[in-house]
Amino acid sequence: MPSLARRPTRLATVALAAMAALLACGLPAHADDGDDRHEEERSHRPHRGAPPPQASGTAYRKGVVAVANPYAAEAGAKVLERGGNAVDAAVAIAYALNVVEPQSAGVGGGGFMMIHLANDRSDDGSRHGSHHGSPRGRTFVIDTREKAPAGATPDMFVGVPNSSLQGVAVGVPGMVRGTADAVRKYGRLDLDDVLRPAIKLADEGFAATARYAAVSCNTRSQNSPESAAVFCPGGAAPVQGSLVQNKPLAQTLRLIARHGPDCFYKYMPHKGCDIAKGIVEGQKFAKPATVGGVVVPGKGGSMTYADLESYRAVERAPIEGTYRGYRIKGTMPPSSGGLTMIQMLKMLERFPLGDASQGYGFGSVKTINVMADAMRLAFADRSIWMGDIDFVPVPAKGLLDPTYFGLRGAAIVPGTRLNPNPLPGDPRPYEFAGTKTGPRLAVAEPVTGPGETTTHFVVADQWGNLVSYTNTIESSHGIGVFAGYTQADGSFRSHGFLLNNELTDFNTTPSTNPVTASVGYNDVQPAKRPRSSMTPTMIFTPSGEPLVAYGSPGGSTIINSVLNVTLNLIDHRMTLQDAINAPRVSVTSTGSAISRDSGILPAVGFSADTVAGLIALGYTVGAPVDIGSVQAVLVDPKTGRQYGAADSRREGTVIGLPR
Ligand code: GLU
Repeated sequence: MPSLARRPTRLATVALAAMAALLACGLPAHADDGDDRHEEERSHRPHRGAPPPQASGTAYRKGVVAVANPYAAEAGAKVLERGGNAVDAAVAIAYALNVVEPQSAGVGGGGFMMIHLANDRSDDGSRHGSHHGSPRGRTFVIDTREKAPAGATPDMFVGVPNSSLQGVAVGVPGMVRGTADAVRKYGRLDLDDVLRPAIKLADEGFAATARYAAVSCNTRSQNSPESAAVFCPGGAAPVQGSLVQNKPLAQTLRLIARHGPDCFYKYMPHKGCDIAKGIVEGQKFAKPATVGGVVVPGKGGSMTYADLESYRAVERAPIEGTYRGYRIKGTMPPSSGGLTMIQMLKMLERFPLGDASQGYGFGSVKTINVMADAMRLAFADRSIWMGDIDFVPVPAKGLLDPTYFGLRGAAIVPGTRLNPNPLPGDPRPYEFAGTKTGPRLAVAEPVTGPGETTTHFVVADQWGNLVSYTNTIESSHGIGVFAGYTQADGSFRSHGFLLNNELTDFNTTPSTNPVTASVGYNDVQPAKRPRSSMTPTMIFTPSGEPLVAYGSPGGSTIINSVLNVTLNLIDHRMTLQDAINAPRVSVTSTGSAISRDSGILPAVGFSADTVAGLIALGYTVGAPVDIGSVQAVLVDPKTGRQYGAADSRREGTVIGLPR
């Protein structure tokens, strides 16, 4: 079976507008006059081959969902069939995933919901259009990221054993508030209608999927006795195909459907709304651990009813950039996803990555060499400059300034490995004219590795609206503790959903930004959101029409999975499904360790020659591991046809309408 690396690239028509935009955006300076200058010039010749990314497979017109689980995909498709729009369907999927993929995401957590409204007017399929709509629509993100409680402190994790399994890691959940806002403002259906499929799944049950069975019985799921009893009863995972019900979760969702989001965020016993009590009591969970023969106490969280009641989701403008003329919209801080990915794209834009005749092309040593070093440079900046923009002055403009990333990216020299490891730069002079450049950081902080959890899904509807939504409770099964409390009779009142450990996405020890001498941008502060890597993304044509919506789970590897797929679509001219199937590479620190995966058949991973070539440059290349799980939808701007693609690294499922 030939690898994708050896496939000929697609021939296609020229997108002159794309190239014109590219030529207009100014080229980064390069340190070396030699070969690379030559490459730079050649890379900017109008390619005879830059059409919109291609799709293959069945085309639809009435909507498509691409989800990491078949039951949740079905929930979204049903809502579209009942007349819901993409926002309604996305919210239905998010709730259904809480039931069928409870280890990944749910009402105990949060995420980033990127929405593109086709017209942003009342005729676009949403209930209430604004009068400020443009013919090209509006793209924005509903930030449902968890927040630290008011009692949180920068040192709250210090000395805490297994801190990601303690109540102190639980952030104030955002999903319920944000999804309710989304349906109320932009949906066509009511929240109770949208929740119906999830309630049915929780109540009547579903047959355990292979993935559900495989991930159910891990250390995290067994952190508390109540969670262990559900996910790993008697020490054994549910058998694939066996019936899984979650009556407590069905009851929780019914309460939200009947009384709205306040029933989640406010303790109102007179209405039967006791979910807030379950969250506040649940996050007091503290479990001692033996460290070096000594028993160290665990630590519960400080969340109060006031923290829950004051939670608000935020609507934010996306981070925007261009890549070879295409417009890219990504997540803004508190996620590092959009900034980091667009930085990488801009540093890579001067290399003709799609051109095998110049030694590039998919999977070549040269291509992976420049990708890896772009990742290392961008992750160096990410380590100190990104955090919750409501609390710290993230220099977003400077980080994406052409002179800044041009100078940074000049360090990438094909055929050599960046050595020593790159330091973060100082983008502030490019943010605010006249600001002095400060000293540089000696060592970038380490970043977390890939997670096993989180979920990404995409919806397109018949009106041209798109949703790209990444949702999470951080680690697999969060802290492994259900929201719930012990009742007067001694029994446990479970709310059936797991509490997140999102606050471990903060710096877990207090730090100082070495350049600004201020508090570390991602240090814990009361009511602050931890820095995320979630990267729901959309690609638009040079003239602004939506083209592709996509994203991935995978901790900090998320950003690189999205980068890989972007390059596969735009540089390597792959179809949407091939772009997802192709093997990926990832570096999430400033170091030289490249992670890779094998891709999905018929892809067969990177060749032994490529691996040997990278090792010869001084990189280490790990054995293949799964990286990410990308779901995507492509809309052909000319015909309006919709195509979906999903990732069989997990249980990716596409349903298109009409069916
Ligand atoms: N909590 C992570 C983040 O926000 C996502 C976790 C994961 O994907 O494993 O970046």
